[in-house]
Amino acid sequence: MTHSVTNPLINWSEIDTVLLDMDGTLLDLHFDWNFWMHVIPQAYADKNNLSLEDAKALIHTKIHSQTGTLNWYCLDYWTETLNLPIAELKHELRNQIKVHPQVMTFLAFLKAQNKTVVMVTNAHRDSLVIKLEMTEIEPYFDKMVSAHDFGMPKEDIAIWSEIQNIISYNPQKTLLIDDNVHALTTAKKYGIKHLLCATFVSPKLDRIDPKDFPSFHHYSEIMPS
Ligand SMILES: [Mg+2]
Repeated sequence: MTHSVTNPLINWSEIDTVLLDMDGTLLDLHFDWNFWMHVIPQAYADKNNLSLEDAKALIHTKIHSQTGTLNWYCLDYWTETLNLPIAELKHELRNQIKVHPQVMTFLAFLKAQNKTVVMVTNAHRDSLVIKLEMTEIEPYFDKMVSAHDFGMPKEDIAIWSEIQNIISYNPQKTLLIDDNVHALTTAKKYGIKHLLCATFVSPKLDRIDPKDFPSFHHYSEIMPS
């Protein structure tokens, strides 16, 4: 049956593969934000007998210096750099992990439409494991790709051809949904035709500026009504 599945933002009949980011796109980014902005500085302050303000300033500088690199997402890197048990601390907070509204409906829609669904995340495998444990998204994916498997983040255009070795996809019939404008930019340069910026990363955080990319706030906006 081929009744047309359209939507003002996206013509689903033109798409056979959907690449989905995880943090911020499918999951509420507040978990990660709170973890890096509050929990880690507090743990670092306690461990090194610093004031919370000093620890925050120090860690923000360290984090800022790694923006857009794979280290920024690498739990091993931060475990070593800060000398803190990052994965363990993350695990303690795991009850705060949650999916955005309508994400489960959206994933079920993709499955019903027989799309190939691939997670492409910059998150470290350890971080991915905790998030899959605490949500029910895993069964909806045909494959899960962590940028760490290739040693490069989505900000590096080469990742999109590396992914071809894992799951061959036709860029012309592929949609990437991401809250990371830099990732959308490299995907566009590589030739991925359909791109959507997910601007609602958390009810507690500012919306993402999608720059020139088509964008949506709520998943109901990209599903046929
Ligand atoms: Mg993201």
